Amino acid sequence: AMIERTKSVDEKVAAFNSFDEADALAQAESSDARRAAGEAKGALDGIPVGIKDNMAVYGQPLTCSSKMLEKFVSPYDATSIEKLKTQGAVLWGRLNLDEYAMGSSCENSAFKSTSNPWNLDCVPGGSSGGSAAAVAAGEAVFALGSDTGGSIRQPAAHCGIVGVKPTYGRVSRFGLAAFASSLDQIGPMTRNVKDAAMLLQAISCHDERDSTSYKISTPDFVKALEDQRGHKWTLGLPKEYFANAESTPAMEPVLKAIEFYKSLGCEIKEVSLPHTDYAVATYYIIATAEASSNLARYDGIRYTHRAEKFDAKDSVDIYCQSRAEGFGEEVKRRIILGTYVLSSGYYDAYYLKAQKVRTLIRQDFENAFKEVDALLTPTSPTPAFKKGEKASDPLSMYLSDIYTISANLAGVPGMSLPCGYSDGLPVGLQILGKPFKEDEMLSIANEFE
Ligand code: GLN
Repeated sequence: AMIERTKSVDEKVAAFNSFDEADALAQAESSDARRAAGEAKGALDGIPVGIKDNMAVYGQPLTCSSKMLEKFVSPYDATSIEKLKTQGAVLWGRLNLDEYAMGSSCENSAFKSTSNPWNLDCVPGGSSGGSAAAVAAGEAVFALGSDTGGSIRQPAAHCGIVGVKPTYGRVSRFGLAAFASSLDQIGPMTRNVKDAAMLLQAISCHDERDSTSYKISTPDFVKALEDQRGHKWTLGLPKEYFANAESTPAMEPVLKAIEFYKSLGCEIKEVSLPHTDYAVATYYIIATAEASSNLARYDGIRYTHRAEKFDAKDSVDIYCQSRAEGFGEEVKRRIILGTYVLSSGYYDAYYLKAQKVRTLIRQDFENAFKEVDALLTPTSPTPAFKKGEKASDPLSMYLSDIYTISANLAGVPGMSLPCGYSDGLPVGLQILGKPFKEDEMLSIANEFE
């Protein structure tokens, strides 16, 4: 039934870059046999989980929605994928994204533009737009996304689902195609909070193959939802995020959600994150710097696209021609920005300065969390926008991440939870938690559901 649904719905939504029907069926059938024999591998046995097309699954394409990797097939599993396999999950195809996870609308994909299932003329958000759209349209039960500056939370908000970015270090990045290594995290995208807790539990672990993976045990996130039910949380509203409330279309349902928490007896407190204004600039310096370095590996020689015509006497020419053909415009823009901020003469003024501001942003969160258990904000200033509306204006696209990117700079966990509608389109409430307190963040979300 799921295969039929996926095939018919995806003609309109275009969430999948590829879907291997025979492989999906074979996995589902072996799960059926296991469960019939009373030998289920784990809680996820038989559940179709869609995978963002920037995570390695053995024997499947791994394109990052880039021409550069159009023909690449992964020779290994990412750690998160290994963990899903151990639990018996059915790996359900490859989901579209903005090329190399750079973007907020899925329009930067080299292959297709995914549609928002709520209104096919709108974007699903990005970069994990394929993951969000697939879960929202019932083309996958769960999905994995990755979040460098909001790429799980913003598309979750736009598609009316739950999306969780874990604390940096909670989930291994081994096998995730790197965009900005100090910001990237894999996380769950699901239809409700309990599913997210279950999926997060399945993929969390310490992993020696990721040097930034944290040595910490994984709590029982699902059990915590019940244990912490009814707790009277202290919730902070960062005043900088509410400054332009009147001109922020997504604000109304968020304010109603805050009223709901008050009615439960939670204490609502205004707090300040004074360096918020610098977050977008800081992020686009650090993220592009890291991206320019990470993307240097795509050289036209090893696993990547190779130009047909190049000067065989000039080895640099094969890099230049292959990269010129293989990368899309947004990726090139970021490589140019990133190499600029890292170049001698500009390094101190931009990159080093940005690292210092990043520390200040992290300290803002540390100070706020002395007063409150978690923060509530909108996930994105607007509901899903129309396709093409921001495509030619990268700066306005960058601003759609204004509420999400600080969490990545600070390393704290964040999630988006559907909280209402604006113009008939879903709006997300963002909850930002203390480092490694995803259990509390999820419990707070669970109260709203
Ligand atoms: N939209 C942001 C960007 O373009 C965030 C992307 C992400 O989280 N992967 O960089």
